[in-house]
Amino acid sequence: MNRTINFSAGPAMLPAEVLARAADEMLDWNGSGMSVMEMSHRGKEFIEIAARAEQDLRALLGIPDNYKVLFLQGGATLQFAQIPMNLLHGKGKADYVLTGEWSKKAIKEAQAQCDVQIAASSEDRNFTYAPHQSSWKLRKDAAYVHYCSNETIGGVEFHWTPDTGEVPLVADASSHILSRPVDVKRFGLIYAGAQKNIGPAGLTIVIVRDDLIGKSAKATPSVMDYKQQADSDSMLNTPPTYAIYVAGLVFKWLRSTGGLVEMEKRNVAKAQLLYDFLDKSSFFRNPVDKGDRSRMNIPFTLADAKLDDAFLKGAQERSMVQLKGHRSVGGMRASIYNAMPIDGVRTLVEYMKEFEARNG
Ligand SMILES: *Cc1c(COP(=O)(O)O)cnc(C)c1O
Repeated sequence: MNRTINFSAGPAMLPAEVLARAADEMLDWNGSGMSVMEMSHRGKEFIEIAARAEQDLRALLGIPDNYKVLFLQGGATLQFAQIPMNLLHGKGKADYVLTGEWSKKAIKEAQAQCDVQIAASSEDRNFTYAPHQSSWKLRKDAAYVHYCSNETIGGVEFHWTPDTGEVPLVADASSHILSRPVDVKRFGLIYAGAQKNIGPAGLTIVIVRDDLIGKSAKATPSVMDYKQQADSDSMLNTPPTYAIYVAGLVFKWLRSTGGLVEMEKRNVAKAQLLYDFLDKSSFFRNPVDKGDRSRMNIPFTLADAKLDDAFLKGAQERSMVQLKGHRSVGGMRASIYNAMPIDGVRTLVEYMKEFEARNG
């Protein structure tokens, strides 16, 4: 079978082994005679699937016992609103770090609910770096500090964990969760939409310290209340059952592949291959500060934007798709999540070399 080399930012590639296993189990999961899609979320089979998925995620990330893991819906975008609803605790103010399109959207949603202070921003250089901690202006009485730990569109990644003292740190980790080990106890809350590095769209994961929940704003709908969801094992209403199942298969795949330490090694190698080429090239260019470059999302431009269409067409002919950059940045973007094999990146670099030789 010929698998397309898919550089989509999300929904993105999934490991072929995971898809094959899901196909094998499509009509009959584990002798149950049912597809996971047909199962009651209250039945023992699905409860076992969801519990295993949570256990495997906890093992992968080393999630401490005093953190809840929630399997929710609505995407990371709903979290932009749900976080202030649950974490403001009547304080009325939160600090946000502005580093690109996603943190900008998070800020906009929060502004409807509270006083938002921009603690730091990289807008002055068109969102091409992660502002150093020493430049952050934090308020001691803020309810939390929010940042986007990997800006999917700009390709800027924090390779360090901010220190916000007693004020809980909240991270939108949608596009690099599970790409490397992370010290969960440094965070109050970590959230991620599944369709980048976890599984199918429709599932959103929230990892939250348990002392932060149970104090939501009065008008918070029940399905959006972390405490109510935690108390009902994320099954206050029907959860996205099939997406949870596939995410569980991805967690198993990660564990059997060597966990997040191994995944980080592979991700470093893949990203380095592409960045090394970009830095040597006089035709292609990545604008992000070297120390803040994302291992997952790598934007680049051609010396002449008039050649963009030809570049994309040639890529398509070589089974490489979704390389067009986000409309707000232009140029190209290669998203190379966990499931992207290194050979996919090699094929891209070989093609770029060839394209440069012809057009540079
Ligand atoms: C994709 C993405 C989102 C939005 O996710 P949805 O699931 O579409 O709501 C938010 N933040 C980041 C960092 C993303 O990459």
